Amino acid sequence: MDYHEPLPVSAERFAELREYFETRSFRGREYEHLPDYRSDLNRGVVLIEDTVVDGFPKIPRTLVIETGVPRHFEEELAVEEKLDGFNVRVARVGDDSADEPLAFTRSGIVCPFTTYQARELLPVAEFFADHPDLMLCGEMVGPENPYTDHEYADVDSLDFRVFDVRDRETGGSVPVRERRDLCADYDIPQVPFHGVFTPEEAVEKLPGIVEELDAGGREGVVMKTLSVDQQLKYTTSAANQGNLEYAFSLPFDYGQAFMFRRLIREAFQSVEWDEDERARRERAHELGEAILCSMTDTIERIDGGATVGERHTVRAPPEIVDELFEHFRSMGLQLEIETDEREAGERVVTFTKKTQATNDKVRAYLDGQIV
Ligand code: ATP
Repeated sequence: MDYHEPLPVSAERFAELREYFETRSFRGREYEHLPDYRSDLNRGVVLIEDTVVDGFPKIPRTLVIETGVPRHFEEELAVEEKLDGFNVRVARVGDDSADEPLAFTRSGIVCPFTTYQARELLPVAEFFADHPDLMLCGEMVGPENPYTDHEYADVDSLDFRVFDVRDRETGGSVPVRERRDLCADYDIPQVPFHGVFTPEEAVEKLPGIVEELDAGGREGVVMKTLSVDQQLKYTTSAANQGNLEYAFSLPFDYGQAFMFRRLIREAFQSVEWDEDERARRERAHELGEAILCSMTDTIERIDGGATVGERHTVRAPPEIVDELFEHFRSMGLQLEIETDEREAGERVVTFTKKTQATNDKVRAYLDGQIV
């Protein structure tokens, strides 16, 4: 098979795009992945042995529910919760089922930690024996992982929640209702489901759903046609402000466009919610705190001699943690280990991925460097 066959591009175009793929290996198995989004190929497409693993598509966002939803959807749509974790695709790509399936992060990298966890958390043997061509797309959520740190009350360490099941090569989705039944059959946990609505009903129901999620500090919703041909996302103020707080705690490492986009979302929501003066001032106050207090905290910490960065905790067998750190170092990340303990045969490590720009710039400004 030629790699381009299941993908939505011609052989000629695929040959042009091939130069953007990067080569890596996982336990001696070489693969290529597309780390960035290209107009006609999903970010994260993987070419491994004689298999293609399609990337997960980019989900457009609306800033205004009332107009954006009916404009985007002509038919019924399912509303599911958007969970805050990291995107993972789990697929079987080879025949050697002893070392399968693999777990791919958003950009198509096989992560040793996530692969280990996916095999532990999911009934992979049963599911892939019956459905070898499908891939489970979901969010890894919970506090103990090397990429994100959002807490959910029902997740102590780490859990997987499926939001899509696709053909691993063509990316064609199992329709929402069938997917929910399929996952239920295998006891595979899924993202919370809020129902199926016409676009008009959705416009009516969504503000209430979003407000409730917001009050619980949750991230938002993803709307999708039942065939999953079209998707649309909308996030809560809690998520926008949480992202801003995090980004401004590492102000020179996050792109300014990242912050700007989230500020704009808050403004549109404040207008759509038709907030009165008091509610708008309260939002302004919270936004100001998210921005300023996270920066002042970082400046004071660096002034006190600390190094700042993205802090994470992982829990896994010692050899998996070693493999993860080796994987990060091979990608050029600088890690600082804070605590390293054994609990019930597992290694529990809290570490920081150093973010160089914020440490260097803040230090230089504190030392009087002129802007
Ligand atoms: P992209 O849209 O390219 O993924 P992004 O970082 O802008 O990039 P997010 O704002 O994180 O995207 O929103 C999209 C992501 O939301 C998906 O890639 C997926 O990992 C996650 N997600 C969480 N819950 C769901 C859900 N119920 N349905 C679909 N995606 C979900």
